[in-house]
Amino acid sequence: MSAIKPEATERTKNIFEEACCVENMEAKFGKTLSPEENDVKRFILTQSPVLGRIPSIDEIKKAFTQYQDEKMDAILKKLDQYDVIHLDENEKTIAAAYPFSGSETSHTVTLKREGYGKIYTMCAIDALGVPFMFQCDVSIDSKCHHCGESIEIEIEDKKITFLKPESTVVWCDLEYSCCAATSLCKNINFFSSEHHFTEWQKENQRVKGHLLQLNEAFYLGKLFFENRLH
Ligand SMILES: [Zn+2]
Repeated sequence: MSAIKPEATERTKNIFEEACCVENMEAKFGKTLSPEENDVKRFILTQSPVLGRIPSIDEIKKAFTQYQDEKMDAILKKLDQYDVIHLDENEKTIAAAYPFSGSETSHTVTLKREGYGKIYTMCAIDALGVPFMFQCDVSIDSKCHHCGESIEIEIEDKKITFLKPESTVVWCDLEYSCCAATSLCKNINFFSSEHHFTEWQKENQRVKGHLLQLNEAFYLGKLFFENRLH
């Protein structure tokens, strides 16, 4: 196969515009966050691939001893309101710190950078965004959301250099409820082929969204994540 580069299309433009309507992208890119909120956000996102999991709230508090517990709780709550992270119902753990997931998902990303390891991402596009966010090569292990067939992707120098199966596509769901973690993410998945997506769609009645080629999903990963740490 020849290397796949991120490519903007009419569909990617529509998806980004739609996402900006329902999601607080300004906050996700850190623009409307206070310097303290940005520091905590950056700490969570950069520590996650080092630990191989999202840090616990205790670990975050230990890293910011200058803040009292109440202050840190308020910062985390604010990040949750902005959907930069997603706290669980009890507000005791972080269920999501986009692109990373606090629990097991179908998508594992291995960052090929000194000191970094393997971590679960929330969705297929989140996985494809990791190389842009961390400026490193990655391997993605996932599976077809219809049949469970293994899907392997290698990204080198921000190009997809290996894809198995080569017919892999991504369904980008746009049915949004309260936050990305509980609605969109679960339904942004890889499928081994367009045919397997169609089979899944018949059973699941998902109509609001776009079926993307890998170059388009890759472009959205870049668009959503390359500036997350700035
Ligand atoms: Zn399949």
